[in-house]
Order: sequence, then structure tokens, then C-alpha cells
Amino acid sequence: MKCPICHKGTKVIDSRAAQDGIIIRRRRSCRWCKFRFSTHEELELLTLSVKKRDGQVEPYDREKLIAGVTYACGKRPVTQEDVFKLASSVEQRIQDRKKEVVPSKLIGDLVIDHLKKIDEVAYLRFASVYKSFKNAESFKKEAASLKKKR
Ligand SMILES: [Zn+2]
Repeated sequence: MKCPICHKGTKVIDSRAAQDGIIIRRRRSCRWCKFRFSTHEELELLTLSVKKRDGQVEPYDREKLIAGVTYACGKRPVTQEDVFKLASSVEQRIQDRKKEVVPSKLIGDLVIDHLKKIDEVAYLRFASVYKSFKNAESFKKEAASLKKKR
């Protein structure tokens, strides 16, 4: 089966009988971009949406995740493959929740957890961008609530 992301070859990394052996579930991993997914008779891949802090929901975008992580890893000894692997582990975790809508905060936290294990500088960079964004948002909220009080 071809990878749904890059259309290259995948390998089966695990097969398991489900529902009393009626369904065989296979976990597959792309040989090239390391994207992981499961198949029954057809592709089992949740269509993920991301719920942002402001409540907006948008389709999950792997490219965006990879771009953000790649940026944090700039000039660090982290390979593109490490970044792909990180993205796959994060996706695995969010797919395991079996919920189609993922809070953006959860994705950010998962990335931070993974980066911490890979490269400390990249982790700090990502965390600082991520946290300053959070602070900017809470600042905006705070400012808005002050206006209301007046
Ligand atoms: Zn692939």
C-alpha cells in the first residue's frame, strides 16, 4: 500500500486481529517519510481537525507542524528524518484518542514533550515561541476585559 502523504512504499509493522478475528488491523509505516497509519480493509485514518485557542476549527495540517518544528530545529543537529519521526509520534498520539477534533494546545504540548527528548535548544526555542504566543493571547484577553470594566 502506498503512503497517503508521499505516495511511496510502506511496510507493515504490526498485524492484529480485531473483533473476533473478522477484521485484521495492520499498522503501516512509510519507508520514506515515516508517516504511520492503520488499515482494516480500507485506510483507517481519522480526518483530524484542530481547534485553536480562539475556538476556530481548521483541518489538521502536517506541513504546518513540520514547518514549525523544522524552524525550531534550525542549525541544530536534528535531521529532517528526526522531524518526520516526531510528527509521526505526535500524530500517533492524537489518532489514538479516536477523536476527530484535537485542541491545538494538545499538539503543542506533545511537540514540546518530544522535542525535549531530541534537542534541548530546539525544545527551548519551540517552547518560548509557543509560550509567548500563549502570553500574547492572555494579554489580549486581559486587555479586552479591562476595556469592558471601564
Ligand atoms: Zn510517506
